[in-house]
Amino acid sequence: MAFLNRARTEKECVEYLRGMLVETGFIDLERDGLAECGPGTGFLMVNRDRELIAGIAGTSSLLDGVNMVATHMDSPRLDLKPVPLDGDGDTGLGILRTHYYGGIKKYHWVNIPLSLRGRVTRADGGTLDIGREEDAPVFVIPDLLPHLAGKKQYGRKLSEGIEGEELVALAASGPLGEEGERQPVVEDILSYLNSRYGITEEDLTSSELCLVPEPPAREIGLDRGLIGSYGQDNRISCFCATMALLSMMEEKVRPKRWTLVANFDREEVGSEGNTGARSQFLELCIYRLLCWSGEQDRRRDLMRTLTNSACISADVKSGLNPTYKGVQDINNSARLGGGITITKYTGRGGKAGASDASAEFVGAIRKLYNENDVLWHMQETGKVDAGGGGTVAKFLASRNMDVLDNGIPLLSMHSPFEVSSKVDIYMGKKAFRTFLEGYSGQNTGRS
Ligand code: MN
Ligand code: MN
Repeated sequence: MAFLNRARTEKECVEYLRGMLVETGFIDLERDGLAECGPGTGFLMVNRDRELIAGIAGTSSLLDGVNMVATHMDSPRLDLKPVPLDGDGDTGLGILRTHYYGGIKKYHWVNIPLSLRGRVTRADGGTLDIGREEDAPVFVIPDLLPHLAGKKQYGRKLSEGIEGEELVALAASGPLGEEGERQPVVEDILSYLNSRYGITEEDLTSSELCLVPEPPAREIGLDRGLIGSYGQDNRISCFCATMALLSMMEEKVRPKRWTLVANFDREEVGSEGNTGARSQFLELCIYRLLCWSGEQDRRRDLMRTLTNSACISADVKSGLNPTYKGVQDINNSARLGGGITITKYTGRGGKAGASDASAEFVGAIRKLYNENDVLWHMQETGKVDAGGGGTVAKFLASRNMDVLDNGIPLLSMHSPFEVSSKVDIYMGKKAFRTFLEGYSGQNTGRS
C-alpha cells in the first residue's frame, strides 16, 4: 500500500522500483557502467524515466534465453490538455481542462479528490516533477446536482453520463473580472504556479501533468483481506515481480536461466510509443546484456536469445463481481482469493487481437506451479461476446518467444479505487518467483 501511494504515475513507479533495486545491490548498467558480470549479478536499465527492465544473470548462456515477467506501469488517468488553464467568466472559478488516458468510465472521475502530478519542462530546458509533496493541492471535477440533472443528464446512456469535455477540474476560486477580459483567478493561479514551482503559462505546453485519484490505499472489509487503491492495474504486478527479483537477490540465488522483469509504459493506449512494449528498448537491452556477458551482439544472437526466451505477461484480470456475474462464464472466470490466474488467451469476439499460448507452454507452467504450491485457476476476460481486452503479451510473442498471461484478479478495474485480494498479491509474487527461478525452458522453439 505504501508503494501504491507513492507510485501514482509511471515515472514515480520507475523511481520507486529503481530505488528498491539499487538498495538491494542491482547495478544500473547506464549509470554505473558495465560492472563485472557473473551468475547472480543483478542489473537494471531505465528508458527515458518511463520504462524499467531489471534482472539477474543466470549460470547458463544468455543465448539459451531468459525467463521474463512483463508488466506495465501506466494506469488510466486524466491528462491535462496542452493548454489546460482557463477562467470562467460567470463564476470566477479557475479551471483545468483534461483529456483522459486509457479506458475509463468517465462518470467515475467526478466528485473525488484528485491530485496533480507529473513533469514540466521549463523555458530554459530544465525539468521539474511536481505533485508528490505532502501539502500538494487537491482538485475536483464537480458533477451536476440531482435536483437539476433531469433534462441534462438522466436521458443519457451510461457511457455518455459524463462526456470527455465535461471532465473539467476546479483549480481555484476568485472574484469576477471585467467582461471580455481574462478572469483575475487565472493570474492568481499563474502567480501561484510561478512562486511555488517557478513555472510560467507557456511551460504548461511542455508538460506531462495528470490528475490522479488522491485517496490513499486502504484495507477493505471486516477481515481487512482486500486492498482498495488507485493504480493497481497494473502496478501490483510490477510490485510482485520486482519483489520476486529482490527476494532472489537477498537469498543470493544464482538462477540457471537469466531472469528479466520488464515494466513497460503506454499499455493502456495500445503499447505505442518509445516506452511501450512495442518499442525496441527490449532488443537494445538484450544487445547490451549479450556484450556484458561476453557473447557477440550480432542480430542472429539477439534472435536466438529472444526465440529461446519465455515470458509471463503479468497483468490484472477481471474478477467475478457478485452483482454482475452475468458477464462472466463462471467456470472460466477469475475469483478474488483464488490465487493467480492462468489466461490462455485474451482478445475479443473470435479471439481478435489475442495472444494465445500453446498447450505445451501452458502445460509447463501448470506443472511448475503445481510442483511449487502456487494457487492458480483458469480465466477468460468474460463471456464470449461480452467484450474483451488484451495485455502486452502479443507484443512479446511477436519477438518469437513463448508467452502466457497470468494475472491477479481485480474488481472495479480502471476505476479510481480498484480492489484486489491480499491472497492473490501474495500468490502473484510466489508465482513470478517460481517462474523466474524455476522455469527450465524445455518447451521453447529451440534456435
Ligand atoms: Mn493492465
Ligand atoms: Mn488496464
